[in-house]
Amino acid sequence: MSMISVKNLDKTFDMKSFEVHALKDINLEVNSSEFIGLIGPSGSGKTTLINTISGLIKPTKGRIMIDGVNITDLSTKELREFRLKNVGMVFQEHLLIGSLTALENVTLPLIFLKIAEKERIERAEKLLDEFGLLDKKDHLPSELSGGQQQRLGIARALITGPKILLADEPTGNIDMKSAKIVMETIQDVVKTKNTCVIMVSHNPQHRSRFDRVFELQDGAFVNN
Ligand code: ADP
Ligand code: MG
Repeated sequence: MSMISVKNLDKTFDMKSFEVHALKDINLEVNSSEFIGLIGPSGSGKTTLINTISGLIKPTKGRIMIDGVNITDLSTKELREFRLKNVGMVFQEHLLIGSLTALENVTLPLIFLKIAEKERIERAEKLLDEFGLLDKKDHLPSELSGGQQQRLGIARALITGPKILLADEPTGNIDMKSAKIVMETIQDVVKTKNTCVIMVSHNPQHRSRFDRVFELQDGAFVNN
């Protein structure tokens, strides 16, 4: 069974005086431990596809199954809970909370899941250690480099042990050397945590790292 199964997905944004047909009959099957690249020009629908798979955007038509659960059938409350447990998200902007330490940022999703403090800290410290950030645990995000901030964002996205990680241009705002480290970090996650990853990237150098690459053009997949 696929970890992610997208069938006949369509998304139209209704702007009153006109419509934007952002996704056109998208079909996609992804297995666990697959590293999928999503490429395509600006405005081709990459972010819309990522946000629809995560449940942040409701599709106009079609069905999205994650680990056998049809998320298009879930209520808003069920979806929020499902996303918190099963879907990790990383964005171009790291969206860390500036007033919280690295450790506190990583434990945040566990607070929402009502995990006890002792376990929260244990899990966060273990993950920060894996990411080579344990010595930075008491630092604020502003005291970290761009690459470290992005890796911290990935750690936070993974703290609940999600089955899928969705990353929308996570290397878009950092230098090439940090981008390489972030890519290696994500590749490692795919291998060691059995997580499947869909990542949007503009960088042609990343292509060889993906198991498969899907290209969007004007809302539809090319060559698939
Ligand atoms: P990409 O991430 O590939 O640059 P997007 O998914 O952001 O592309 O956008 C795809 C198309 O959908 C674009 O034409 C964009 O203007 C439109 N779009 C995206 N989000 C919205 C929205 N919330 N409302 C209206 N149009 C949108
Ligand atoms: Mg985008």
